[in-house]
Amino acid sequence: MSVNKKSSNLVIISGPSGSGKTSICNELTKSPRVEQSISYTTRKPRDGEGNGIDYCFVERSEFERLIKEDKFLEYAEYCGHLYGTPVGPVREVAEDNKIFILAIDVQGALQIMKKRPDAIYIFIKAPDDETLKQRLKSRLTEDDEIINKRFMAAKKEMEASKHYDYCVINDRLDDAVKEIEGILQI
Ligand code: 5GP
Repeated sequence: MSVNKKSSNLVIISGPSGSGKTSICNELTKSPRVEQSISYTTRKPRDGEGNGIDYCFVERSEFERLIKEDKFLEYAEYCGHLYGTPVGPVREVAEDNKIFILAIDVQGALQIMKKRPDAIYIFIKAPDDETLKQRLKSRLTEDDEIINKRFMAAKKEMEASKHYDYCVINDRLDDAVKEIEGILQI
């Protein structure tokens, strides 16, 4: 992991499902300086998720059309569903004083590393496997098969953490958020 100080306004946050990155991003976006990209996905909305708020939920055929039209900065298949970052908003913030966050999986982050080596890459980890599994289970919105799939994907994703600029352990949410605010000087 490199420790060079970058000063990009593009920040990529990855970490396995259950690492708590959604809660972290929700805290970070309370700052008026921080905005978060809204991804496209072919997965169905969970209870409480809104279209155009949490994700833009689309059919696979629509997603594939957007790929053909080169509308994604990156996209990846994760546990059977497609997820992608629309390229437009990333371009728009390039000149802005705002910090723009992408919360995406490792496959997507590795694609962006090639295009945007200047961006800041942060990997979030749960403190241990047991906590990770508990967090996945406590969502109660997914069945055992999906939880196990996500747990296995998490173990694999963890191997890529060495490519990131920073690795933050999310034991207590407040501490993890403070650490990232420190890194980004928010
Ligand atoms: P979930 O289904 O739990 O919302 O997301 C599953 C995984 O997909 C998470 O690791 C999440 O960060 C990732 N993800 C969300 N949006 C994107 C995206 O636009 N691109 C990529 N590559 N991954 C994404």
